[in-house]
Amino acid sequence: MKPKGLLLVLSGPSGAGKGTICQMLRNKLPDIGYSVSVTTRAPREGEVDGVNYFFKTVEEVKTMIAAGGLLEYAEVYGNYYGTPRDYVMELLEQGKDVILEIDIQGALQIKKRFPDGVFVFIVPPSLDELSSRIYKRGTDSEEVIKKRLASATGELAYASEYDYIIVNDIAEKATEKVLTVMEAERYRAARTYFIIDEICHCRKED
Ligand code: 5GP
Repeated sequence: MKPKGLLLVLSGPSGAGKGTICQMLRNKLPDIGYSVSVTTRAPREGEVDGVNYFFKTVEEVKTMIAAGGLLEYAEVYGNYYGTPRDYVMELLEQGKDVILEIDIQGALQIKKRFPDGVFVFIVPPSLDELSSRIYKRGTDSEEVIKKRLASATGELAYASEYDYIIVNDIAEKATEKVLTVMEAERYRAARTYFIIDEICHCRKED
């Protein structure tokens, strides 16, 4: 028997760097499944439909929600974001690891459905650093940036809902820490108990 794939959920406040860490993990683990979310937000410069997000209208997302096509969804900063169900379910059934990079509301919904998922909260080293990262990124309007910063302190309070908290000071180091978590999680007894059954089955009769 093969161990089940890990469902790794990365979340944390906007600007904490979870997108960068997610990309570094994908570079290091080319076989990991990455769920491309749907969103109603407009594409940013350089973003490609089907690669960064599936860009949808509000009506299209509402239809997907009504049809049960999303594993979770949330309204984040005035736009819908959601995780398409079928792709993630297929990969998990094949025993593959899957990463979701989603907001806290979405992570809490996933935790209810997949309590054996691995929930990692990525935090910035300080609120000042968070603010400077969001401004430097330069991808959002002043209004959106203010919304993101205002939410950050409240979002940090959700850290206790997660299995692991990783400070993203230097992205490479934070990525290594996530890899360490994944490695340890593979040996969790609840995931590997089937080995005991196999050992017992193999025992020769006296
Ligand atoms: P951005 O607009 O910066 O790409 O993403 C805004 C927020 O939405 C980020 O916190 C990101 O993690 C979150 N997000 C992206 N995809 C999903 C999703 O499928 N579901 C949920 N709940 N949040 C998502």
